[in-house]
Amino acid sequence: MLTDSEILELKKLLNQKNKIVITSHTNPDGDAIGSTLAMYHYLVKLGNSVEMLLPNKFPEFYSWLPDSDKIVLYDKSSKYAQTILKEADIIFSLDYNALHRLGALAEIVKNTSGKKILIDHHIDPEYESFDYCLSDVVTSSTGELIFDFISKMGDEELIDKKIGEAIYTGIVTDTGSFSFSCNRPETYIITSKLVSVGVDAQKIHKLIYDTFSENRLRLLGYAISERMIVWEELHTALIYLTKSDLKKYNYQVGDTEGVVNYPLSMDKVNMSLLISEKDNQLRLSFRSKGDFSVNDLARKHFNGGGHKNAAGGKTNEDIDGLIERLKTVLQDYVQELNYKITL
Ligand code: 5GP
Ligand code: MN
Repeated sequence: MLTDSEILELKKLLNQKNKIVITSHTNPDGDAIGSTLAMYHYLVKLGNSVEMLLPNKFPEFYSWLPDSDKIVLYDKSSKYAQTILKEADIIFSLDYNALHRLGALAEIVKNTSGKKILIDHHIDPEYESFDYCLSDVVTSSTGELIFDFISKMGDEELIDKKIGEAIYTGIVTDTGSFSFSCNRPETYIITSKLVSVGVDAQKIHKLIYDTFSENRLRLLGYAISERMIVWEELHTALIYLTKSDLKKYNYQVGDTEGVVNYPLSMDKVNMSLLISEKDNQLRLSFRSKGDFSVNDLARKHFNGGGHKNAAGGKTNEDIDGLIERLKTVLQDYVQELNYKITL
């Protein structure tokens, strides 16, 4: 949380026409991109010179967001990225709790001299890496926290349609279209304010969710019918996609987004996993409904983390080895995974 004196310091700082770089995490999702763009539009309005920097490519279905084409990708423009980071007076860290979530960018950001400001909703923020922290784990999304931050700066009236669309993208994607992390009245109060400044929620939903290529839809069908394993006694389902599966369906960044949610639609399943072979590693996506914490599981056993009901991880094992290990690891959670959602 920001103290009153920190808020005053930040107000002053952000009104001094600084050089600012906004960063967010590897494999950027809607909240990473939305928060980055919302902050960008706000800081530009204040008169700063602002750059947006992400470690790698984001899904095409976010490219309708105004100025998303100005986002610098570290894996494409590393020299330029290093220059802007070196010259930055301020670096924003949005939607990640620890610098290692920046991948190859982590060390560079760590060694820069600019003031570091964290705005994030993940568990256990790495406080020591930042000069200012607005961290709140109960908030739906970093997008929502950007709204809070701008309000705390006394600038709520600067939130226009463009900023609103970017914030809304963060909220709608991180709540799975208001289906999880969405039980706080504040989320709806903010959303209602966004609609009031002209955000078209219906259109944004279509732009994000109704843009499948034929290959993407067929990959989803294949994943569910051919690559899903259900472990009834563990109330768990997993889907795995090999490199050659992804190649067969001409995988594009973002094509596996959402796949992990489908197994949770079975009443008997409380945890779902997607294992995908990407960049010569296995990427894991975990989702749960109810009390089971996939964050704890991902942290303890799969080099990852995230939130209680949505987390990620990675491993260098092969798919068969990982599935075997998973089955063994989950034996320790048999009881924790056995519950039924009731009102
Ligand atoms: P996804 O499964 O959509 O990639 O990620 C779900 C959530 O877990 C997101 O909030 C994301 O930021 C977080 N997450 C994904 N991968 C990792 C990881 O490797 N480490 C940590 N700490 N968090 C992750
Ligand atoms: Mn987020």
